Amino acid sequence: MEEFTKFVRGGILGPIKKWGTKWSLWPVHLVTACCGAELAHAFACGYDGERIGALNYGIARQTNLIIVEGAITRKMARVLRITWEQMPDPKFVIVMGACGLNGGIFWNGYNLVKPSEVVPVEFFIPGCPPTPEALLRGIRQLQIKLDKGVAENSLTFSEIALEKGKKPKVLPVSPKVVSNAPSIVVAVKKAVDWEFGKQLCDRLKAIGRAVITAKNRIALKVEVENLRSAAMKLKDLGFDHVKSVNVIDVPNEGKFIVEFLISSYSVKELMPVLVNLYTEISRKEPKISSLSDIFPSADYLEREMQDFFGVNFVGNPWKGKFILAPDTPEFPLRKDFKLEAESYVGD
Ligand code: SF4
Repeated sequence: MEEFTKFVRGGILGPIKKWGTKWSLWPVHLVTACCGAELAHAFACGYDGERIGALNYGIARQTNLIIVEGAITRKMARVLRITWEQMPDPKFVIVMGACGLNGGIFWNGYNLVKPSEVVPVEFFIPGCPPTPEALLRGIRQLQIKLDKGVAENSLTFSEIALEKGKKPKVLPVSPKVVSNAPSIVVAVKKAVDWEFGKQLCDRLKAIGRAVITAKNRIALKVEVENLRSAAMKLKDLGFDHVKSVNVIDVPNEGKFIVEFLISSYSVKELMPVLVNLYTEISRKEPKISSLSDIFPSADYLEREMQDFFGVNFVGNPWKGKFILAPDTPEFPLRKDFKLEAESYVGD
C-alpha cells in the first residue's frame, strides 16, 4: 500500500494527481462569523468560485479545504479541529478575515482562539471582511503553491520610515482596566406622552417603582424578595412571556442589576408594551429567584446569565455550563474578569 501511495504521489501519476488536487479544492462549510457572507458572495453567480474548481461541500470526509471565516471561539476551535481531522489528506486551510488573523475587532475577547494554533494554515487573507475577490485570490494562491510546491509572495510591502522623534503607536495591553465611573451617562428624558402607559404605570405602582422610559416601555423596580410576586401580578395583568434576561455588573457598588423584559402575545393592548422588571442583588452572593415556572421562556435566558455572570437563579433546575465550552474560565462577562494568557484550548 505504501509503495502504491509513493507511486501515485511521486511516479508518473504524480503530476496528474497534483493537477487534479489543484482544480478540485472543495471547501467544507464551516461558517463561524460574518466573513461567511463574503464567502457566500464569492461562490454565488457573480464571482462563481466554481470557475476555479472550488466547490463548497457539506461533508468533511469529501473535502480538502477549510476556509475559516473570521472569528474562532474556544468552543468552535474544537469543531474546527474535529472537522480538520475528519478530512482526508492532502488537506489545506485558508483563514479569511482579521478575526482569524489576530483577533480583529475581538482582539481582547476572552474567548477567541487563533485558528493557526488549532490547525496548520496555508494562507491568511486580511481584511474585515475580505472581499470576494480577495478570497478567490487566496484560493488561486493555494493553487499556485500546489503547482510550484512553494508559496508565492503576492504582495510586497515597502519599509516606511517613522517620523523623527515620533514613537510607534503601542496598542493597549489586556486585561482591561475597570473604571469606577461609568463612561456613558444616560440623559434623563422628558416625560413621555403615552396615556395607556400612564394608566398601566398607576396599576404597576402597587408592585414597585414604575416609570415610563420611552413610548411602550416601562421600567419597574422591585426589591429582590418581591420579584416573584411582581412577576405573578404582571401575569395576572396579561403579560405572558419573558423576552430577555439581562445582568448588568456594577462592581464599584458591589451589585448586579438583573432585569427581565416582559411582554404579551395574548392581550392586544399589551403586545407593544415592554416592561423591564428589575432588581438589584449583592455581587458577593448573587442569588435571585428564577421566574422560569411563571414565564417558561425565562428558562434558557437565565441559564445564559448563570453561565456568563455566575448569578444563581434559584428554582431553575439547570446548573452548569450552557453556552460556553466546559473549559471556559468562569463568568467571563463580569467586569473584573481577567483575561488569560493566550493559549490553545487543547489538542
Ligand atoms: S474579520 Fe470582520 S467580517 Fe470577518 S468575522 Fe471578523 S468582524 Fe466579521
